[in-house]
Amino acid sequence: MTASPRPAIWDVAIVGLGPAGRALAHRATAAGMAVVSVDPLPHRAWSATYAAWKDELPDWLPPAAVATATHRPTAWTTRRHTLERTYCVLDTSKLQSILTRDAGTVLAGRAVDLSPTSVRLGDGSTVKAHAVVDARGTGDSPDLAQQTAYGVVVDPDTAAHALGGDAAVFMDWRRDNGTSPSDTPSFLYGVPLTQDRFLLEETCLVGRPPLPMSELAVRLHDRLRQRGVAVPSHSDVERVRFAVEPPPEAGRAHNSDLVRFGARAGLMHPGTGYSVAASLLCADLLVRDLLDGSNGRLWSWRARSVASLRSLGLRVLLNLDAEHLPEFFEYFFDLPPQLQAAYLSDRSNPRATLAAMRTMFLASSGDIRGVILRSTLRREVR
Ligand SMILES: Cc1cc2nc3c(=O)[nH]c(=O)nc-3n(C[C@H](O)[C@H](O)[C@H](O)COP(=O)(O)OP(=O)(O)OC[C@H]3O[C@@H](n4cnc5c(N)ncnc54)[C@H](O)[C@@H]3O)c2cc1C
Repeated sequence: MTASPRPAIWDVAIVGLGPAGRALAHRATAAGMAVVSVDPLPHRAWSATYAAWKDELPDWLPPAAVATATHRPTAWTTRRHTLERTYCVLDTSKLQSILTRDAGTVLAGRAVDLSPTSVRLGDGSTVKAHAVVDARGTGDSPDLAQQTAYGVVVDPDTAAHALGGDAAVFMDWRRDNGTSPSDTPSFLYGVPLTQDRFLLEETCLVGRPPLPMSELAVRLHDRLRQRGVAVPSHSDVERVRFAVEPPPEAGRAHNSDLVRFGARAGLMHPGTGYSVAASLLCADLLVRDLLDGSNGRLWSWRARSVASLRSLGLRVLLNLDAEHLPEFFEYFFDLPPQLQAAYLSDRSNPRATLAAMRTMFLASSGDIRGVILRSTLRREVR
């Protein structure tokens, strides 16, 4: 078999091969584009647990990419809420191999300079393309709002004991983790990874700075001990740390000459830290924009409006004090299911996002309303 010749100018050069860059390379190649991608470690195996709501995933993703699906998972605030959606844990290695197949040419290298039509690599070489897409992620700068979490993998019986029989818990804000109302809260996240592996993770949703990993580990073990669960010392551990907002140099994705994608472009929901499903779903929009030289599909006015509303949501989360954060989620999980889903997942429906925020505001206590108003009027965050 002969290798296809490399064009002098590629249709698209993608910088960064995380889930977003890989999804875009895969879909752009499927659309017939000549694609080159660059990453310092393009063959690094992904190891994070990626999860998403089932209705967020694109139709082209084969079912094999989903490892487990839980219908109507639970959330706990001061009481139990049933979430009227299906929550999926992705099979990370299958997802990576699906996206890696038929995805153009891959170069191992670090991009040191990006322009809208060229990428200079650390070895001095330059890649030219009709479009360059920056998919370098958010990194984990301490100056940015970050999510942190510490998790252990246990067997399903242990998990059932820890979760009182719930099949999956999206957030459990109960304070049986050794904290007092004045401590920055964290929640328990519990999902089946496979038939015989279950992740229990103590999570700091967002902080600037976030809770340290060591504190989350202590809280997780305290919580499980309170529930009569002992974690075997040989259990696998997952450590999570990433920024939920793009670095300032990435600017606002939709106002820049450089095309950005994935978490780098603000596709990460700043209130949850989720971006993988959004990147999978939006890859085709960007491919169509690239094919006709526009940016109106990925960053329609609707998507820009939702992004602004979500940044306000992030400011509210960062401004809420320890005592009020769990109460805030009580109001969120009391929203009608379609408004919860719109707020979490729909990046093209500002009306529904606003309706969710307005309903929350009206339901909230005076203290929380005050924080929402201050966050709306003052852009800076404490
Ligand atoms: C343990 C863990 C669990 C998580 N769980 C979830 C989850 O359940 N759901 C979810 O949606 N998200 C989850 N996240 C967040 C998730 O990792 C990000 O949403 C996602 O990785 C963002 O994808 P991305 O492709 O935009 O950026 P990244 O995954 O950050 O990829 C960026 C890529 O760019 C490359 N790169 C960086 N600099 C350069 C350069 N100069 N030149 C070339 N390449 C470069 C990097 O090597 C990297 O491969 C989790 C994160 C962690 C750590």
